[in-house]
Amino acid sequence: MQDGIDSVARSALLDRALTETVTEWGSSKWAELRRCPRAYKLRVVQNVRPRGGIDNNLAIGIAVHQVLAFVGLLSTRGIVATESDMMEALDQLPPGPPRSEAFRLLRGYFMRHGYTNAGLPEPLYDVEVLLEAAVGALPYTARVDAVTVGPTGLFTPWDHKTRGTTVPWGASETWATRPQFLGHAYLARAVWGDRWSRRVMVNAIVKTKTPGYERVELAISDFAIDRWAEEQSTQAPRLLELAASGCANYDSCAPEIGRRCQYFSYCHGNDSDRESMYETVEQEAR
Ligand code: SF4
Repeated sequence: MQDGIDSVARSALLDRALTETVTEWGSSKWAELRRCPRAYKLRVVQNVRPRGGIDNNLAIGIAVHQVLAFVGLLSTRGIVATESDMMEALDQLPPGPPRSEAFRLLRGYFMRHGYTNAGLPEPLYDVEVLLEAAVGALPYTARVDAVTVGPTGLFTPWDHKTRGTTVPWGASETWATRPQFLGHAYLARAVWGDRWSRRVMVNAIVKTKTPGYERVELAISDFAIDRWAEEQSTQAPRLLELAASGCANYDSCAPEIGRRCQYFSYCHGNDSDRESMYETVEQEAR
């Protein structure tokens, strides 16, 4: 028994925090479908992946999320974590630059915000909370990184975001138009009704030389939520049809601004490129 929790229960919390979960009807699915239905078909239907694993930025983000989830889970059991708990979670991850960078970011994060409630300013209700509701004829889901409960019992969903640059001026306004957060607001309203605080919070962790830690409050109106839901319910069935036919969006192959598509050499290369640069993986649990 350690800190009021036995080793089996502690190990179960660690497993839960480190298990990557994908929501079948979440914002990433719809974002990829909007970006390019063919990319969605390759990734989700045909399970084609670039060889070489995930890139470092994604690995850093996953590591940060997993450690925050573990510290948060301890908090929901009444345990205030310490640096050794953070290290225990980090030590489960493969050694390398992403783990080192996650350590740098998290050490600064906990120095700034403390370990209570995984550094959030209100008691934690839970972490990795699955919210689900229908939008039109189709389901919509989100796995919210953390949910806090305020003094009057209202729930607030939190999204942890690791990013390379500081939070831009006006983010509380511009980020409130992002589909992911509109979806969070839709689900929060559908699931909690009047027990939703009317806020979606972003917990930004900035990977600058001196790491930055910022919170952005998004107040999303009923009008904005309803408009998003109407458009999502109209677009979603069409996007799935486009994906089924493997329809391409050539604007996304090699855009002027931003990175080229990870399937560029698959779509625009030859058989040898496809063979050497891509692989088909096992179906992921969804
Ligand atoms: S390379 Fe172009 S067509 Fe192919 S999946 Fe990517 S965006 Fe779509």
